[in-house]
Amino acid sequence: MWDLLITGANLCDPANGIEARSDLAIEAGKIVKVAPDLDQSQAKKVIALPGKVIVPGLIDVHVHLSTHTELGFEMVAKAGIVTVIDFAGDGKTLKAALANGEGRGLNLGFLKPAVPQSTISTVDPPEEELETFVEETQREGALGIKMLGGHHPISPATVKALIKIAARDKVFIASHVGTTNYGSNIEGLKETIELAAGNPLYIAHLQSYCRGQTGKDPSLEAIEALELIKSHSNLIAESYLSPFNGTSGRCEEGIPKSHVTRTCLKFGGFPETEEGIRQAIRAGYAHVNMPSGGELIKATGEKAQIYWERQKTNTRLSFPVNSAAAAVKIATAKNNGEFIAKVLSTDGGTIPRNTLVEDGLALVRLGALKLAEFVMKAALNPAKIFGFKTKGHLGVGADADLTVLDLARGKAYLSMSQGELIMLDGVVVGRGGKFLGG
Ligand SMILES: [Zn+2]
Repeated sequence: MWDLLITGANLCDPANGIEARSDLAIEAGKIVKVAPDLDQSQAKKVIALPGKVIVPGLIDVHVHLSTHTELGFEMVAKAGIVTVIDFAGDGKTLKAALANGEGRGLNLGFLKPAVPQSTISTVDPPEEELETFVEETQREGALGIKMLGGHHPISPATVKALIKIAARDKVFIASHVGTTNYGSNIEGLKETIELAAGNPLYIAHLQSYCRGQTGKDPSLEAIEALELIKSHSNLIAESYLSPFNGTSGRCEEGIPKSHVTRTCLKFGGFPETEEGIRQAIRAGYAHVNMPSGGELIKATGEKAQIYWERQKTNTRLSFPVNSAAAAVKIATAKNNGEFIAKVLSTDGGTIPRNTLVEDGLALVRLGALKLAEFVMKAALNPAKIFGFKTKGHLGVGADADLTVLDLARGKAYLSMSQGELIMLDGVVVGRGGKFLGG
């Protein structure tokens, strides 16, 4: 007997070239049979999903969960995501959150960030220290390393050394570009690519370096960024579609700590100071990420200002600084039939923009992406990049990780991990969670 038979839906599984109506049988958390009209009497339980589309459980490779973990898990699960990677996570915090039952049934991995005065000593530590840092990330069960150039820049020499050590030790390494020399923009992207010197590097949110900060049109910057990725086969690029970024509201002595925040203020015509943030929140330009109704929301105006002040400025902020034109171009551009940016993510989690399905399906509705291409970018390619062999596809033997899409509403209707329900029609019911990593 199968544990579960799902019937009546269409399957979209680009790995196996399937895009057709088919039933799907699940046993012991695995997919055991995929064929039309399976015998319902062989299943303990049958779910009929006529009119829906089953895709491999979506993998949002780039999220942030380590602050407000429980709210973050809830937000991700509600969005129909099955597997997430905290792209600058704290292993202890995340494992404790899973142990506390906050995981909502999700699969979770993390990258350990290289942050000066925190996980590494300075912006320019000796190479032996970096070696030790890379070893530690492996011992802690991280799936790799993240450099946070835009927010916590390190020296060019440190970027170069980390990428080199990671290549030698076959450790995954991702970069939010920018160093102590260059910012989080197209110039920073060029610098980081040079520092990689042909070694493997994952470039996070490519579209965010194309905000028109160099005075050029963002679409033209996007073309430049795409050319750079295209001509360097050592790079893997990711992008997201939300107009909102995610940065820090934290100020010290009246000045925002994050360079990204200062740039956003300047971009919006506000002073690059604590007072500038205050004005930007009141004016509806700076969105404070604040808890409300069991999740974090983007809020502006007086209430948001009061929350930010009560938190002593230590909140996340989102500014609508991403160019939609650049984001769509980067999400859809191909070279020889292959996507130049291999992955679509959200950079969401506790940052309230868990819109992988909504924004991805908006591109499908426009005809800018085929449904199978969306699945490729949001499940199959992420699984390949991180070596999750039993995820990202719906073949026999794969984990029964599914996201069920309601194309008419442009939303996820249901999600499950290894045959266990995570979310049904916007209500999160998932329990437990699985740690992906050592
Ligand atoms: Zn991020």
